[in-house]
Amino acid sequence: MWIYLNKRFVPREQALVSVLDHGFLYGDGVYETLRAYGGRIFMVRQHLERLERSARLIGLQPPLAMEEFPPLLAEAMRRNELADAYIRITLSRGEGAIGLDPALCPSPTLAIIVQPLPAYPARYYDEGVPLIISRTRRNLAEALPPVIKSLNFLNNILAKREATAAGAYDALMLNAAGHVAECTTSNVFFVRRGRLCTPSLACGILDGITRNVVLRLAKAEKLDCDEDVYREADLFAADECFLTNTTMELMPVRTINDQPIGSGKPGSLTQSLHRAFRAHLPDYLQQRPGTLE
Ligand code: PLP
Repeated sequence: MWIYLNKRFVPREQALVSVLDHGFLYGDGVYETLRAYGGRIFMVRQHLERLERSARLIGLQPPLAMEEFPPLLAEAMRRNELADAYIRITLSRGEGAIGLDPALCPSPTLAIIVQPLPAYPARYYDEGVPLIISRTRRNLAEALPPVIKSLNFLNNILAKREATAAGAYDALMLNAAGHVAECTTSNVFFVRRGRLCTPSLACGILDGITRNVVLRLAKAEKLDCDEDVYREADLFAADECFLTNTTMELMPVRTINDQPIGSGKPGSLTQSLHRAFRAHLPDYLQQRPGTLE
């Protein structure tokens, strides 16, 4: 396995980062998870723009311009002989003396990991996944904005631990006001009387790229869509529920806190939206691998 680390590709065993890296010491950094299908990356420009925005919001200057990333990602896939791939870009503040001041770190650490996609079991899609609503609330947007895709992931990890302990697939987090926010690595949608609903960005969530694609698709299919503020009760009254992220695409939800959502099976709208997503996928992929286009 070849990993890109600070200007060069090295074998995995040599891809080592200092214990004084502020990403390790303080979770001071940002990242992106991307997915390639047949060597073409899904929504590459949007992912790289989000990486830039996350970096800007923590005052971190990426060591590469946005156009310099796609050739590197293509090279990382080529070296690892992977066309269908999970791609992780990690950008940390870099190595520096102990202390919170970012000025202690003269150059950021940039790592690109490409590996085979984690296989989601087919039954997750066929039957839907169980969720819990965690006691852990989503980070307060005024404290650590969820719109920053930061390396500081403990909020999500604490919620995930609750889900695992409860035997659920994942945890749905409410925000500090008790409104539905998102899952630990995905956005949430539900369907009520034919309307597609998802928490608005103002609820303090990551503006998921798949979320955006699904909203665009749904509007193109003339579905009524609402981005609003929802409570737990809205979820329990839903006819269907599903999650979105770049690696899972659309994942149906079967139960929340052991209560079936709708029929307790993947809903028809969820399935038809996922089919539409798949049918339009070529439009969302890089037309020219190695570029932003
Ligand atoms: N919400 C959180 C907290 C995430 O970590 C992610 C992705 O990792 C998402 C939502 C979905 O984002 P995207 O569709 O851009 O992959």
